Amino acid sequence: MPDVKNWQLGREMAYPYEARFPERQFAFVFNINRCLACQSCTMACKSTWTFSKGQEHMWWANVETKPYGGYPKFWDMKILQMLQQADPDGQIWDGKISEDRAAPYGRFQGKTLFEAAETTLEPESARVLGYLPTDEEWNSPNIYEDNPVGPKGERDKLHQTGTELPIHNTWFFYLARICNHCSYPACLAACPRKAIYKRPEDGIVLLDQEQCRGYRKCVEACPYKKSMYRGNTRVSEKCIGCYPRVEGTDPETNGEPMETRCMAACIGQIRMQGLVKVNQGDGSWVEDRQNPLYYMVHVAQIALPLYAQLGTQPNGYYIPPRWVPRPYLEQMFGPGVERAIERYIHPDRELLAVLQLFRRSNRIIYRYEIEEGEAVYEGTYRGRPLTLYNDTVIAFGANGKEIFRTTVEEPLHVRPAEHANSI
Ligand code: SF4
Ligand code: SF4
Repeated sequence: MPDVKNWQLGREMAYPYEARFPERQFAFVFNINRCLACQSCTMACKSTWTFSKGQEHMWWANVETKPYGGYPKFWDMKILQMLQQADPDGQIWDGKISEDRAAPYGRFQGKTLFEAAETTLEPESARVLGYLPTDEEWNSPNIYEDNPVGPKGERDKLHQTGTELPIHNTWFFYLARICNHCSYPACLAACPRKAIYKRPEDGIVLLDQEQCRGYRKCVEACPYKKSMYRGNTRVSEKCIGCYPRVEGTDPETNGEPMETRCMAACIGQIRMQGLVKVNQGDGSWVEDRQNPLYYMVHVAQIALPLYAQLGTQPNGYYIPPRWVPRPYLEQMFGPGVERAIERYIHPDRELLAVLQLFRRSNRIIYRYEIEEGEAVYEGTYRGRPLTLYNDTVIAFGANGKEIFRTTVEEPLHVRPAEHANSI
């Protein structure tokens, strides 16, 4: 296999094809700390793309409860276990996190899905380590996941601890997921029909159903299980990144790129989507200081890739939940977790302003600017002195025009007395 550069792993890795990079890459940041599992995103996607006969089990966007839940069931535990078996005790990071964009999370020493396949599988199929979930595993997304489980995993008995933040014995969080439109897609690598391709303009990964013959190699290979088989058409389907919206063909935005349905529907305001510029040499992100995604991933470093060690260079980034035990989070998001949480719970002035950009508009933000405001609060927070400024953050779109502006202090609207009980 050719070697390609994977900046999330801080090293080169084997991949079945030579590297090719899009001009811009579809990417997103989800702030897990804010997700309430309302499933508005899930239903927005379902009601747009997968409401037809044969698609009943398909949830391109889903929200699962960790650590017990998963769609399909156990997807991440299963793939991590397979990697562990392929490379016993070798799945470690060297842990030297840095500000360096070429290796911000240190260097991953273990084997990726592509590398493990080379040593584990028979040569003719040695492309990606994976598995096909059973029908039962696809069956019931989010069923019984929120039920508390008592000591030693006993059902129907409540745990007696769990009152202190940030770390306590009883914990869970909601993990919202869509296709990561990976830079090195496992689905694409595994397809014997070459039916899966990555769009050069935005990096969205699409599956050509005319080419597909339903071998389900993509379903087997995608570690995130975001490629799915449809029985009544006998071909596979996957998230299309709402590409007509991203292309700006929705009349609402007059040709401006618009965020996907799942992003736009988010009640918890946890989601931000972007199109980041990519270096053609090595697939890293072009320095773009005022792009909010670039800022959160590479400057503030509060948003981390999901299971980067699998090797697909996923383009979904998560602000990790601050109350969860670190070893679990580090398995999921890598060695940058502690740094990310520390910066998130003690945001500096710029980060606090950027965090206000989430979900004020359904248009894709290309750039932000901050206008400094007055100090509005002075005090201490978690033992540290804190001054809050009511800065204004301004978002600009693809055409360079302002999309919206908002302030750090939430505007307060007082309803007039004569309308006290009406809208
Ligand atoms: S998440 Fe899965 S389906 Fe999506 S691009 Fe990556 S490997 Fe392919
Ligand atoms: S819409 Fe937002 S808050 Fe609601 S479940 Fe989805 S990601 Fe979470």
